[in-house]
Amino acid sequence: MVSRLSCAVCILVIFSLLIATSIPSQSEQKEEIKDLLEKKLAEKEAIIWYLGHSGWAIKTKNHLLIFDYVESESKPAEPTLATGNINPLELKDQQVFVFASHSAADHYSEDIFAWEKSIKNIFYIFGWQAEKKPNYVCMKARQRKKIDDMEILTITSTDAGVGFLIKVDGLVIFHAGDHVHWGGAMDPFAKEIDYLAKSDKDFDIVFLTIIIGRDLSRWESITKGAFYAIEKLLPKVMFPMHAGGKEHLYKKFAQEAERKKIKTKVHCAENKGDRFFYQNSRIK
Ligand SMILES: [Zn+2]
Repeated sequence: MVSRLSCAVCILVIFSLLIATSIPSQSEQKEEIKDLLEKKLAEKEAIIWYLGHSGWAIKTKNHLLIFDYVESESKPAEPTLATGNINPLELKDQQVFVFASHSAADHYSEDIFAWEKSIKNIFYIFGWQAEKKPNYVCMKARQRKKIDDMEILTITSTDAGVGFLIKVDGLVIFHAGDHVHWGGAMDPFAKEIDYLAKSDKDFDIVFLTIIIGRDLSRWESITKGAFYAIEKLLPKVMFPMHAGGKEHLYKKFAQEAERKKIKTKVHCAENKGDRFFYQNSRIK
């Protein structure tokens, strides 16, 4: 009995040690992120981090774009991109563009303005008037702007604010905000997608909301809209979003995409901090 027990304890200890050694320490995580942020990227390449819900960070050749970031309630003592959290000190040498599609609490919190204390090169692009300052611009729906070497086009969201089409460093990126097909006539949703499809032909990375609310009551209409957008825009890769806390639903969407045999590759984040490398029109 004793030997059996000690054997079980031994296995448990070895197992715990294996887990402990496979989880990178905080300093290893920081070092890795530093290397990634300093990594030279070519045109049409990107490193993408999932920041939870509709939040994303995208490093391109010359810029770092951040979308719809909301600080988590249990903010870690040492925030880092490795765990899907923004630490402005980590980004202080980056040229940062911060996008917020609309003012809902799951897409925006004003804490993001504190980042400018640490990041010299930071510019805010919002879908509503939240501030008046030199490094801030409010974009109305269906408006075009050139900021630095980046071209931006907005669409009218069926919810609030806008969706952003961005051309930067050889990439065409679309973040839909909460532009979804709520049900009923497809028109209000589809006409904005058709407008985008006419504006650009070569979409690389597209982020689409696939669920809104706590239940799946609108799953069919919202995913129908998402598939419409994929078929019209034909992006190289697509990331489902807006299921913060229920990330397994991204897989459900990807399975439906597979059944429909759509050409676009659907990639699913599972945890905050998940990272994807976009190169040669696909995720490596
Ligand atoms: Zn939302």
